[in-house]
Amino acid sequence: MQEIIKTAAGAERLLIRARTIITMQAEKPVLDNGALLVTRQVDGLRLAAVGTWAELGSETAPVIDLGEATLAPGLINAHTHLEISHLKGKTTGGNGFVAWLKSLVPHLNQEPETESWSAALAEMRGCGTVFAADMADRHADRLAPFLEREQCAHWLMVQQFGFADRPHTRKGKLWPPPTMAERKNPKIADRKNFCRAGHAFYSTAPDTLQAAKTWDHERQRPFALHLAEHVGETELLQTGRGELADFFRTAGILPDDFRPPGLSPTAYAEKLGLLDDSTLAVHCVHLDDRDIAILARHRVNVCLCPRSNAFIGVGKAPYERLARAGLNLCLGTDSLTSNSDLDLWKELDFLLEQSGFTMLDALAMVTINPARALKIDPDYGSLESGKKACWSIVPDSFNLKP
Ligand SMILES: [Zn+2]
Repeated sequence: MQEIIKTAAGAERLLIRARTIITMQAEKPVLDNGALLVTRQVDGLRLAAVGTWAELGSETAPVIDLGEATLAPGLINAHTHLEISHLKGKTTGGNGFVAWLKSLVPHLNQEPETESWSAALAEMRGCGTVFAADMADRHADRLAPFLEREQCAHWLMVQQFGFADRPHTRKGKLWPPPTMAERKNPKIADRKNFCRAGHAFYSTAPDTLQAAKTWDHERQRPFALHLAEHVGETELLQTGRGELADFFRTAGILPDDFRPPGLSPTAYAEKLGLLDDSTLAVHCVHLDDRDIAILARHRVNVCLCPRSNAFIGVGKAPYERLARAGLNLCLGTDSLTSNSDLDLWKELDFLLEQSGFTMLDALAMVTINPARALKIDPDYGSLESGKKACWSIVPDSFNLKP
């Protein structure tokens, strides 16, 4: 798509023609012999009209004919961690969460090379990704200006982590403790695409997570949280014991006086008031029917990361049960420490192999669903008049089963 935009540099209007256009609009999700009328606006290229060639072909504008290509909306990666792209290949998969964590943690302070970010970004863009919900941590102070410079549209979801620092009251409101990124650069939280995210219940104090959720809510920004990723998390919250508890206690993160709430991660999230339609619950592998009912009741958005879960060996999310409950399902690659690449088409292929979703249902998980979950649907998520003119090309290898 970038090449097309470069070709069109200077043009005020453009007509894009393609054999098939998957719009993801509710009324007309698929157009045969479709066309996009693109116009230049002050903030970039936008779609002025989307229709068939018969409807739009007579518009006066230079034509770019993409032939037999199938176009879909620009893809949205609902969960990744670009910051740790330099640690690709350094972790151990297949032996469960704690084994993976033990292989990851010793490398976390290693300063990332910008080249690793450039390569990861190129990989994301190469598959047609136009927006990333990126969960960042200690290197967010460097990552944020990098993404800005590269004009990568994103939410910078900076993780709250730890039990040591607790929320404080400022101007009569509960304020979360500074993230590691803010300790390096306090101004990072002033960015309009900055959100606070929760790392997880086993690593972060519950009142910190509540304060972070409130902070995001007041600014109408999405709040993401790793939730119910692995069985050790459930065990820790229900009993206070287990391999994960031992790991975080030994690391000095989980305090000795930690009292398990005796609830599932999902029930605990509900009790703490963390769940609503602006929350993105990431992973959601270990859920029973009551948990799914809780997520549905609060209209929580769920981000599945199937290849990451398979790599680490934490199990498989209950895809179909989540879909039947009416949850807004999104898809993320997670980071290169638990995935071989950041290609959302490969993520979709993997999901389709493992599930009974239709191609359109699956495609919604990387387009319109995350656009709604991340509050970016005025600009992204479907090919629709008024939205940004950005699209992806559906690869021939992608299984277009109905
Ligand atoms: Zn993650």
